[in-house]
Amino acid sequence: MKAVRILEQDNVAVVVGPTKAGDGIEGYSVGAMPLVALCDIPQGHKIALKDLKRGDAIIRYGVLLGYLTEDVRAGGWINERNLQLPSSPAVSSLKAGKQGTVCRDLPSRRTWMGYDNGPNLPAGSRNILGITMSVHCVAGVVRNAVDIIKRDLLPNYSNVDDVVAVVHPYGCGVAIAADEAFIPIRGVRNMIHHPNFGGQILCVGLGCEKLQMDMILEPEENNSENVLILQDCKGYGEMIDRICAMARKKLEILNARRRVELPLEKLRIGAQCGGSDAFSGISANPTIGYAFDMLAAGGAQVLFSEVTEVRDGVHYLADRCQNVASVERLKSEISWYDNYLARSHVDRSANPTPGNKKGGLSNIVEKAMGSIAKSGSSPIAEVVGPGEFPKCHGLIFAATPASDLGCGSSQLASGIVLQLFSTGRGTPYGLQEIPIYKICTQHSMKAQWGDLFDMDAGYVVTGEKTIPQMAHILYSDILDVVSGTKKTATEKYHLYNDFLVFNPAPIT
Ligand code: CA
Repeated sequence: MKAVRILEQDNVAVVVGPTKAGDGIEGYSVGAMPLVALCDIPQGHKIALKDLKRGDAIIRYGVLLGYLTEDVRAGGWINERNLQLPSSPAVSSLKAGKQGTVCRDLPSRRTWMGYDNGPNLPAGSRNILGITMSVHCVAGVVRNAVDIIKRDLLPNYSNVDDVVAVVHPYGCGVAIAADEAFIPIRGVRNMIHHPNFGGQILCVGLGCEKLQMDMILEPEENNSENVLILQDCKGYGEMIDRICAMARKKLEILNARRRVELPLEKLRIGAQCGGSDAFSGISANPTIGYAFDMLAAGGAQVLFSEVTEVRDGVHYLADRCQNVASVERLKSEISWYDNYLARSHVDRSANPTPGNKKGGLSNIVEKAMGSIAKSGSSPIAEVVGPGEFPKCHGLIFAATPASDLGCGSSQLASGIVLQLFSTGRGTPYGLQEIPIYKICTQHSMKAQWGDLFDMDAGYVVTGEKTIPQMAHILYSDILDVVSGTKKTATEKYHLYNDFLVFNPAPIT
């Protein structure tokens, strides 16, 4: 039987299939003897890699999962019955630590080909005319205009990849002065300035909406070159004509852009998971984490998120925060989310369900660590809120919802130019503004939905590849996709969701 150990320092591995007492575990030994299962161990469950005593710490993902309540010999089964959960500290008492490790396994390839946006923005992975909006009311007109632009104008501009209507549900009928309205407003504003739009602004408003242009544009941007108000137009015909005329000028400028060789410091990408299974934390997520470590060590900005999924391992994130500012921000973002859920009496606990336990997840920390595995082991350089642009380089925690669209749209507004997406169950989720790179957790998913995945991390489960080997392939693929030499399945099939900007404030 095969078993996967995530990090060298782990004293348990996870068996990849149902294991019988007496089965040898490939690749592991105890002294001179091969490791043998001492009892039947279900698929996805933990096996002790050495003799352990009552009270010993069980380490997986390099972190403490709990303490043994009995002696367990090498080859024994570790599960929720013999593992006692360590108490997790209160959020208010979290302190910055020194736990992150900088990756030494850096490939020689350290540059990519992107669209430079100057010193203050990451570079673009695609060259897109984004037609944005201040309010959802104009979505129908903008969508129709985009169809016409793509049919009549885009074919003349061969260096422009796409024209996108950035449709979102915000802008009017909302409590614009609510405490938390800054979150969706920041999201819409940052989306207008997304790196893949190359600084070309074409924003359509209605006129009477609550979200006025001066709340999402700088004064020098808010002019007739960039902004069209539909209530100033004479009928539908003039609306379409004027959007097309503005688009033509923007397309001319975008078409003159060329990819240039850029350092990793100019790259900002994100990752999330959705439709997870028992193998997410074994194959796909640690592969993403290792690739993130390589990119972070090279100076890229790599974002991971999903507050509710990491919540029960947040003390391990605090240990990896490099400075007081980031740990204080982590505490405020996590506390805000706790209160946000508590307002509706929603249980924030990710308590393992009976299904989780059956699948081998002993406790809430282990469940959270499966999601946190996407972040690798780098120190956390910065913590930002949903839709906020990060400033530091390296690993960044962007505190977004775990919902695929909530996380996707928030990271998008934070200016990522590619998102890695791991899944065990499969989802056709995609965004039009950036490539989404999908990684499935095991071969059976690849067999079922093969044409929708860009990578199959199932080779880690079967033992055909190690996590570092898989991550090197992913690293190379990431640079190919952002350089435009490789397209993802979501781009190939045009699988696109809307920009569902996160709005925790009331709708009126
Ligand atoms: Ca998600």
